[in-house]
Amino acid sequence: MRSGDDTSVSTGPDGASAPLDMNADLGLFYQLLQMVDGDWSDSIQGICDHIRERFGALIVVLSVLDKTFNEFIYTAFTVSAETEQRLSRDGSRFTPESVLADIKRIYAENNAILDYGIYHGDILQSFASIYFRHDRERTVRMLTEMRMRTLFVIPLLETNRNYRCTFHVITDHDYESGEKEFISQYSAQLNVALEIVFLVRELYTKATHDCLTKLFNRKQGHLMLERDLERIPRNRQPLALAMMDIDHFKRINDTHGHPVGDEVLQATAALLSEGLRKCDVVARYGGEEFMLILPDTDLPHAAEVIRRLREKIERASVATAAGPVSLTASFGIAVTTHDRPLDASALIAEADRKLYLAKQNGRNRVEC
Ligand code: GH3
Ligand code: MG
Ligand code: MG
Repeated sequence: MRSGDDTSVSTGPDGASAPLDMNADLGLFYQLLQMVDGDWSDSIQGICDHIRERFGALIVVLSVLDKTFNEFIYTAFTVSAETEQRLSRDGSRFTPESVLADIKRIYAENNAILDYGIYHGDILQSFASIYFRHDRERTVRMLTEMRMRTLFVIPLLETNRNYRCTFHVITDHDYESGEKEFISQYSAQLNVALEIVFLVRELYTKATHDCLTKLFNRKQGHLMLERDLERIPRNRQPLALAMMDIDHFKRINDTHGHPVGDEVLQATAALLSEGLRKCDVVARYGGEEFMLILPDTDLPHAAEVIRRLREKIERASVATAAGPVSLTASFGIAVTTHDRPLDASALIAEADRKLYLAKQNGRNRVEC
């Protein structure tokens, strides 16, 4: 695909290291920072927009794939305002989903599109046809009308890490050699920055999450509780904390073995997470003990939510390697309000006392 008259290919980033323009690229650094613990799709979109502005490009598509190139993790695309106007005058409509589906197809059909290069002619046409419902005639007309001249394909991550980013940039001009160099250097810098982000994100996840259940770990749960408690003097909303402990969990381990016990813990974590709001926090507090933080929730509401969770767990049958396993759990709830302030340790201690009571009173219960 790279050979042929209409495809000129330059060499890859050569490691030259012009520094980023700190002022112009602050927005980019902000997006990168957000990626450490934020939602990637927003950041990928932010980086994509940034690259378009920085390169004065017509269209930019940024894709994050797994390292085998088989799985798309995120894709974002952005077009200049002028391009958008022309597209809408032409009646072209595309959604992120339709662009993603088409890009996947192009990747599948032509792996070479992933290679670093500067393309004109057929490859540019094939890529741009995404936007014109693969209507060849229309694509050619629109390419001329929109002055789409050059497609840059720049894979950003080429290491053995878990992700590979590639961006496609369509511009209305041929780049001079200085500009080519600029793009190479920009891409090399972004490559390094993303590597660091991915690495820090991995470390951050390991430090804050429990590897078995993927829930927040005890330390992070504690920090998040403290953060939510700090809001109470300002928002004057109550906060409920529930401690939960699986009943007779030792028997599950003893009967079916430790790996099945692990499966039950994972399924329990999923049941808890599904049953709560987005703003609630579930953390694995210890072995088979979980902490549930319900901000802006008073005692009657917390009791209702937790009773529903208890029933859900009782009804659930966890599919494990040893067949279906059923379980029950006990809960203790404590609430703090603006008028009755408690610090994190005091609140946990109170919920723990209630949990102990639930165990004493026969298990599979909620005490508050
Ligand atoms: P109770 O109803 O009083 O809570 O009884 P229990 O059997 O649930 O409580 P106990 O504290 O006696 O036993 C908890 C068990 O949880 C013992 C421990 O081996 C097991 N456990 C702790 N962490 C893990 C884990 O990560 N995986 C598995 N499979 N078991 C774990
Ligand atoms: Mg237990
Ligand atoms: Mg326990």
